[in-house]
Amino acid sequence: RILRVAIMGLGNYGTRVANAMQDCKRAQLVGVISGTPSKITKWQAEYNIPEKNCYNYEDFDAIKHNPDIDAVYIITPNGLHCEQAIRVAKAGKHVICEKPMAINAEEGERMVMACKAANVKLLVGYRMHFEPKTVEVIRMRKTGEFGQPRFFQGQTGFVIGNPDQWRLNKELSGGGAMIDIGIYAVNGARYMLGEEPIWVTAQETKTDPVKFKAGIDETITFQMGFPSGAVASCLSTYAMRHLDRFFMTGDDGWVEMQPSIGYGPIKGRTHNGELNQPHITHQTLQMDGMAQLIFEGIQPLVPVDGEEGLKDLKIMDAIYMAAKTGGKVSL
Ligand code: NAD
Repeated sequence: RILRVAIMGLGNYGTRVANAMQDCKRAQLVGVISGTPSKITKWQAEYNIPEKNCYNYEDFDAIKHNPDIDAVYIITPNGLHCEQAIRVAKAGKHVICEKPMAINAEEGERMVMACKAANVKLLVGYRMHFEPKTVEVIRMRKTGEFGQPRFFQGQTGFVIGNPDQWRLNKELSGGGAMIDIGIYAVNGARYMLGEEPIWVTAQETKTDPVKFKAGIDETITFQMGFPSGAVASCLSTYAMRHLDRFFMTGDDGWVEMQPSIGYGPIKGRTHNGELNQPHITHQTLQMDGMAQLIFEGIQPLVPVDGEEGLKDLKIMDAIYMAAKTGGKVSL
């Protein structure tokens, strides 16, 4: 069975997903939701989308009556995800939502509840959970090939351009680099160590308060502690180039990945040598994997559901709290 998907938000990443879905075996782009009629026309022509599967932000609740759409993939600014996801759930369609799932845990909880109540799936666009080299590292960790994991290091960041974009507007973004790209290090620490953090500490550095207004973090360094005694040390930034690196060491082995979360190819090596799994477009694998998850219940090694998204949001809230107070925040 093919997962028939409508994309909401026809921006940069939406376009990337749409193109990647052209190669999917189990998922198909069949609809769009957009506030820009000219984009809808363009996408209709480009991806062969029928008029009856096109909606805007005012009328998309009517998707409820459209039997030809199974799921809506929300790829809009972060601050809109929660309300949009709840509306999609109420329309009885599965929700696939981009990371961050929402801008705080309170919103995340409402999304999880709404999807449960509507009996639809809530999945988060964690494409790395389907990426072959990452999956291999998770497999190695699960089978004990690294021994007891002890330390994770994650550095994620880039130099953000246009100061007028939604990513630098607190209402739409929910925060700065941390919620946008730092979330990969939080999520990565969890899947590479295989534990949930019990405390966080964090420090914020801001060199450009004009570009990065109140509530928009430029650079945050943060640390996490885990029940086993494992620790993580991470940095997220909108002001440094080429930061895309994960490192994890355990009692019996280690792994280093750079790039670790970019669109690929991901590169990495372990104590055993190079990771040489093939590069396949992440979003193609993700959407085929999500179709299998929705229709056959086949789970990836690390979940991509709303509960997983919510775990990261709770940690994110704690990191922002720790950066603000300068204290250690328990989870
Ligand atoms: P973008 O600005 O390129 O696209 C956002 C789209 O939302 C645009 O088409 C815009 O018109 C639309 N939109 C609807 N309502 C809007 C409003 N009120 N204000 C502004 N725009 C509005 O952004 P993007 O880079 O495509 O990011 C969209 C989402 O995808 C974000 O949640 C982001 O975190 C996520 N993302 C994920 C990845 C990934 O690798 N998983 C990569 C990039 C972005």
